[in-house]
Order: sequence, then structure tokens, then C-alpha cells
Amino acid sequence: MEKQGKRRLRVVLVPAPFQGHINPMLQLGSILHSNGFSITVVHAQYNSPNPSIHPDFSFLSLPDTSSDHNILAGDGGAIVLQLNAKCKARFRECLAAEVMRQQGPDDGIACIIHDELMYFSAAAAKDIKLPSIVLRTSSAATFLARTALMNLKAEGHIPFPESRSQDPIPELYPLRFKDLPIPIFGKLENTLQLMSGAANIRTSSAIIYNTIDCLENSSSAKTQQQCQVPTFLIGPMHSFASATSSSLLEEDTSCLAWLDKQSCNSVIYVSLGSVAFMDIKEFVEMAWGLANSQQLFLWVVRPGSIRGVEWIEILPESFKKNIGERGYIVKWAPQKEVLPHSAMGEFFSHCGWNSTLESICEGVPMICKPCFGDQRVNARYVNYIWKVGLELDSDLERGVIERAVKRLMVDEEGKSMRKRSNNFKEIVKLCTREGGSSNNSLNELIKMIVSF
Ligand code: UDP
Repeated sequence: MEKQGKRRLRVVLVPAPFQGHINPMLQLGSILHSNGFSITVVHAQYNSPNPSIHPDFSFLSLPDTSSDHNILAGDGGAIVLQLNAKCKARFRECLAAEVMRQQGPDDGIACIIHDELMYFSAAAAKDIKLPSIVLRTSSAATFLARTALMNLKAEGHIPFPESRSQDPIPELYPLRFKDLPIPIFGKLENTLQLMSGAANIRTSSAIIYNTIDCLENSSSAKTQQQCQVPTFLIGPMHSFASATSSSLLEEDTSCLAWLDKQSCNSVIYVSLGSVAFMDIKEFVEMAWGLANSQQLFLWVVRPGSIRGVEWIEILPESFKKNIGERGYIVKWAPQKEVLPHSAMGEFFSHCGWNSTLESICEGVPMICKPCFGDQRVNARYVNYIWKVGLELDSDLERGVIERAVKRLMVDEEGKSMRKRSNNFKEIVKLCTREGGSSNNSLNELIKMIVSF
């Protein structure tokens, strides 16, 4: 990729305060930094990134707007709505101060790039005549599904009765009502307000997606039609970025030594990401499904992710005896090192967009257990369009997880799915190489930023 000589134009990044949004934004920062740009990250105080992990970036904090109530209720929608309502003035001050600091002839702020949810930043940038670009950290299909959800709600079809859940949504193939990106935390109205704010790209000059043309060609063409500004598909960004982790939780790297001891494609990796949760019944079914499958597993149980318990204290001694050395449980894993590991056999995932991309890039087939929001859209595509995973449809009754694990790890079905997953891995690699679609798109994006 072309470097930009001695110019050190600055790009101001505004991530939304959630792990699945911070990771791609900081990956984009590291890509731009390695292409000659200086980076300033303006972040919320809630879930703030750790500056010491990114010594080359400058960090500025927005005022604290998140009330304890919203955080405790896990109401991400309310937290971000507060940021949008209260941070524009402070952000404009930050930008103005940065503009003053950047006085050199080859220096200055080229643009801001903000998470689609942090749309107050575009308004502030416009006030001081700086260009802005939107980063969408979910898939293009999710963007289309959100637009459909807003329309269906306006027409009175949401909430929908259980009898409609399998009905296809007109013009949104292959999604069904049950695949709509409906939240389960907080109020639906909050989320819809946020979706509408994020969909209105106002004065933005372009849109960046952390997605890949080979996966989302048709969805991205439709979003381009709707949005009418240049769209850059530059995913998977983690494959262009330096390996630096932006984890908010401490990664337990001891699991890598455990993986080193296991044979090729023999381990199931289980993680539901940074926000999803289970109730105790699902957790217990998960535990026994893994144990009864007789397969090796690495299981991330994020503290607080099981409703009503702290961590794994409710698992009985009989479970621990049963699994012996076959299972390894951690609080948070270095996922980007886990998935490429040769021992990886399958990924039991909630299908957050980052996890989905990371899994596809490494050719790891998935068992999809979406919980809410865009995870449902992603799971449908993984299962029905890309065919690199199984979606768990039913409630987690005894036997469901054991059967699904064995279908991928033991049965012929698993072998053909691994083959397809490996094909995708090769296709994705081509997209990121010189001349590949994501690489070209990234070069175009850099040219555009320089042209500002
Ligand atoms: N992740 C991680 N360690 C874990 C679980 C997740 O590093 O134990 C990372 C994962 O690699 C991904 C992000 O956290 O980049 C989760 O984002 P995703 O979009 O998959 O899900 P979300 O957390 O937003 O629901």
C-alpha cells in the first residue's frame, strides 16, 4: 500500500464505547497511522480505551454522560443517545483546540472518522468546516435490515407475533422476521432513534464498512444506492492492522499454551463476545453439551455474562471431573490469536460482526447462537448464504448443543463445512492482497483523505 511521504495529516477518530466498535475503529487508526497519518482518538469515559496500548495515538476524553442506571441496565442505546445529546459542544472544543495545535504547512486535521452511532461528531465537524466520514462496524446487510426494521415499525408490524417469525421479509432476502436486528436491552424506541440518527449520514463525505466485497457485494451495492456517497469496503480491518489488541478486559493468554498441546482442528472455541449473556439454565446446558460431546473445548465465560452468578461457581464438581483436561475456561481470550491456531476446529459464537469476520478469515466453521441485534442477521448469512456454520434454532434443551458440536466436529457435514470455510479463507486473503478489492478500496480511501 502506498505511503504518504512526509505529510503527517491528522485524522480524528470517534469510536462508540463498546468492544465490538472500539476494535475496528482502533484497527482503522493503526492502518492509517502506518500509512503516514497522525491519529487522535476522542472517546467516551465509559469503556474508555487504554492509551498505553497505543502510544502512537493521542487520546482525548468526552465528558462523562452515562448514568449508572443505564450502565447497570446494560442499556447501550440509552448510553449512546446521552453521548449524542450532550457531547457536541465538548467535541467541537476538542476539535478547535486540535486545529489550533496543528499549525504546520504539511500538518493539520484532514477529517474526522466517527462511528455511525456517534453522529453528534459529524454535526460538530461541520460547524468548524472539517470533512467527516462514517465508519459502520456492522455488516452492510445489517444496515439494510435496520432500515427495514424502522419501516416495519412505522407501519405497525413490530412487535410481531410468534406466528410470523419464519415469514420472509419482502425485499430483504434471506432474512425472516426472526432475523431482524431487534435489541433486547433497553427500550426499542431508544434503539430506533439511534438507528435513525446513524442512518442519516447528513454531511458526511463517505462511508467505510468493515466488510468484504466477496461476502457482501449485493448488500453493499444496495446501501450505496441508499446513501449516495462513496462507500469503502475495507474489511477485514484486523488483517491490515498491527496485531495490537484493544481489549477492555485482560486477555488470559495461558489458553494459547493449552491450545499448543492439542492436535489439529480438535478444539471448539466458545465465546459470546463482550455484551451477550445467558441465563443460568442456558449456561448449564452449554456446560453439559460441551462435556457430553466428548470434544476438547476452550470456553470464554465473561464475568457477569451469566445472569445471577459471578462466574462459573455454579458448575458442579461432577462437571469438572467429567471434563478433566478436555476443557479450558477463561474470562477473556486473545481471540485474534485463538482463531488462527492450528488446534481450532469450530467456533461456537454469538455472531457479533467482528467475531464472524475473524472466524471467516481463519476458515473456522461456526455454530451460531445469536442473542440479539445484528447477531441474528449475521447468523442467517453464515448459515444460509455463506454456508460456513449451523444456526441453533431451538431453545438450548439437553442434547441440542452436544448434537450441534458433533455435527461439525465428528460428522461428514463438518468436513464439507470446513472445506467451504477454507475456500472462503483463501478468497478473503485475495481481497486483502495487492490488487484485491479491500486493498484497492483502502488505497482509494487514503487518497480521498489526503485530497481533503
Ligand atoms: N474478543 C476477544 N476475546 C474474547 C471475546 C471476544 O478478544 O474472549 C474480541 C473479538 O475478537 C472481537 C470483539 O471482542 O473483536 C467482539 O466483537 P463482536 O462484534 O464479535 O461482538 P460484541 O462483543 O460486539 O457483541
